[in-house]
Formats: sequence, structure tokens, C-alpha cells
Amino acid sequence: MFTVKSTCEIVKSKQEPRRDFEVLWNKGLPFKINFFLWRVWKRKIATDDNLKKMRINIASRCWCCDRKEKETMTHLFLIAPIANMLWRYFSLFAGINIEGMRLQQLIISWWKQKAIPKLQSIYRAIPTIIMWSLWKRRNALKHGSGISWEGMVEMTIEVVRGNPGWSSFGFCFRDNKGDLIYAKAKGIGIATNMQAETVAILIALRECFSRRIQNVIIETDSLSLKKII
Ligand SMILES: [Zn+2]
Repeated sequence: MFTVKSTCEIVKSKQEPRRDFEVLWNKGLPFKINFFLWRVWKRKIATDDNLKKMRINIASRCWCCDRKEKETMTHLFLIAPIANMLWRYFSLFAGINIEGMRLQQLIISWWKQKAIPKLQSIYRAIPTIIMWSLWKRRNALKHGSGISWEGMVEMTIEVVRGNPGWSSFGFCFRDNKGDLIYAKAKGIGIATNMQAETVAILIALRECFSRRIQNVIIETDSLSLKKII
């Protein structure tokens, strides 16, 4: 039934602030990357399917894989092999099952994923960064140069990794001929790079101790830690 009140309700509900735009913006990320996600959300990036919506007719093909499919946002950002691998790679850490999810659902589940406060802000930023890397790669391919899988992961991790941030340590033992005899690497969660360097030496020394290895020479790339020790 049409009344002044019902109309008022409709108008009011339309003006309610949309929560998704609030979480969209990440304080830790550069403006252009945030702005990019906002454009993705509003379908204002120049993928072929969006161009078609704006009645710009072009023969569509994707640049992201050799399947040569039509370029849609879903293909580019979710189901193309490299996109899928990237989502899987990071979702594994967060315990998110990406199976059968649509792009928006996937992004939202990253935003909503429960974690300690420090991780929470990283989780909120990850979808943006993954899609930003995919977009950069697509543009690089479309305009002539390529980025490898390793480059993609590195680019994504680099933006994610603040200090403190997701950290890991790694070390190896070499004998007096320089031959590798043992190596170990492990993620240690959120830590500063100094903490990670320190943990590496601590674990390495413990390993020496339990293997009764004596007269060790420690090499580190952290000058400040060298000075501290
Ligand atoms: Zn493709």
C-alpha cells in the first residue's frame, strides 16, 4: 500500500550508509590501490565485460591465460588459473575455503575472517592486494611485458608485509667445505624483521647444540643483530 510513510521508509533505507564501502578502504594501503578496489566494487574498471555494459563493443579476449576466454571480471580476478592459484595460496593461510565462491563472497569472507587484531587488518587488505596484482599483471601482458607466478606472489607478499608483519625465518648449515648439510625454514606469524632474524639464530644454535656441532661460524645479513650479539 502506498503511503507517505512507506515512501519515507524506502527513501530512508536507500540513504543508509553501505557497510561494504567502509571496509573497502584500507588505511595501510596506498590511495591508488584502495581506489582500484573501489572501482572493482562499482564495476568501473576497463575489463571487456564492463566495457560491453557501457555499450563499447569490442571482440573480447582475456590476456591472463592461454585459454583465450572472454575477459570478464570473474575470469580475470577469480577463475583464471593464475587468479585461482593466488587465491588458493593465500586462503590456505587464513583457513578460507574458496570452493564455489563468487568473487564478492570471497572478498567478504576475507573481511569477516576471525583473527587476532594485527592479522585482521592484513586479512582485510589481502583481497585488494591480490586483485591489484592480477590487474597489474593483466595490464603488463596486454601491453607487452609479463610477470611470472613468483613475481605475483612476491608482489602480493611485499604489499602485505609491513614491519611487523607476516614473518618467517630460514637458515642452513654448511660444513667446512661449504656443502649444505641441513636447512630449515618456518613461518612465525606476526613479528618484526628483527624478531625473525633473532629467532633464526636462536633456532639454528639450538639445532647445533642438539647435534653436538661445535666451533660454528654464524653468518647473518642483519648488521644490527650482529652488533647486538
Ligand atoms: Zn584468461
